Amino acid sequence: MRNIALLTSGGDSPGMNAAIRAVVRTSINRGLNVLGINRGFSGLINGDIIEMNMSSVADIIHRGGTILKTARSEEFKTDEGLRKALNIAGVFKIDGLIVIGGDGSFRGAEKLCENGIPCIGIPGTIDNDLAYTDYTIGFDTAVNNVLDSINKIRDTSNSHERVTIIEVMGRNSGDIALYAGLAGGAETIIIPEVSYSIDDICKRLIEGKNRNKLYSIIVLAEGVGKATDIAEEIHEKINIEVRATILGYIQRGGNPTAFDRILASRLGSRAVELLMENKSNRVVGIKDNHIIDLQIEEALSIEKKFQTELYDLANVLSNSKYEVPGRKI
Ligand code: ATP
Repeated sequence: MRNIALLTSGGDSPGMNAAIRAVVRTSINRGLNVLGINRGFSGLINGDIIEMNMSSVADIIHRGGTILKTARSEEFKTDEGLRKALNIAGVFKIDGLIVIGGDGSFRGAEKLCENGIPCIGIPGTIDNDLAYTDYTIGFDTAVNNVLDSINKIRDTSNSHERVTIIEVMGRNSGDIALYAGLAGGAETIIIPEVSYSIDDICKRLIEGKNRNKLYSIIVLAEGVGKATDIAEEIHEKINIEVRATILGYIQRGGNPTAFDRILASRLGSRAVELLMENKSNRVVGIKDNHIIDLQIEEALSIEKKFQTELYDLANVLSNSKYEVPGRKI
């Protein structure tokens, strides 16, 4: 192992830069040459590759996004695209590749491994939708970004005494909504993992009103539906003012939290060590605060377990009448 390369792929996430820095600096410390591939797999296909050194990753640990840019490449999924990528890997004498991204990016890494290029994946996505790891890089920052918005919206929602539905990202995962909702004291959290009923939500809003609670925050995961639709449904049913706020890309930007920077540093460094140990086709992650690694196929076949206790806790803390399923008095 002499030359390793790295790329960021899929959606960007805050902390990717800290991971890039860790990969580059660990590699240099271990006597390796490091190449940065711009724009994910499309940069590999096109040979959009630069040499990285200690100073090319200076002053980036605190910055969101990714200095290597990111992209989605349909071409890479084709045989022709893969062939071009393999050719460029040969031209640049890439002995090992580190792929920072989500499950799709890991599938891409798997293809390269099958064709003789050792690859290690690092989980970088705000969605926290990879079951093999407790956390993905960027999730904690996204949760804190949402929390910051909840705090602000709470002020205005309180002043105007109205209900606000905040739609957050996460695709099919409700983790951002769940964590930010719990931390932000949301009255209701709507996520794809748990079915919801508009009637129940309306009932709770009316009960709240009856005990003089004149405003309410509902956090909705985008995987369930649109905040504007749910706001309209509530308004039609009980005729109260409901505002919808869609946070959008603001959740993905900004300085990564200490948690994400430390996670990214640990994972980035471990990924390099694995390549040096001649390991391939693996992903790194964190379980019970230990850095772990496992086969890509195995990691992606693990089903995500829903954190029922967090969901129940959020409900108990916001609703005295919430019945925890299965709990015996
Ligand atoms: P995020 O969770 O942020 O969306 P992701 O890595 O899952 O990140 P994708 O768009 O699914 O994002 O994948 C990123 C890129 O990985 C794709 O544009 C494509 O180039 C490559 N890729 C995805 N799936 C495959 C596959 N089955 N085979 C080869 N390459 C793939």
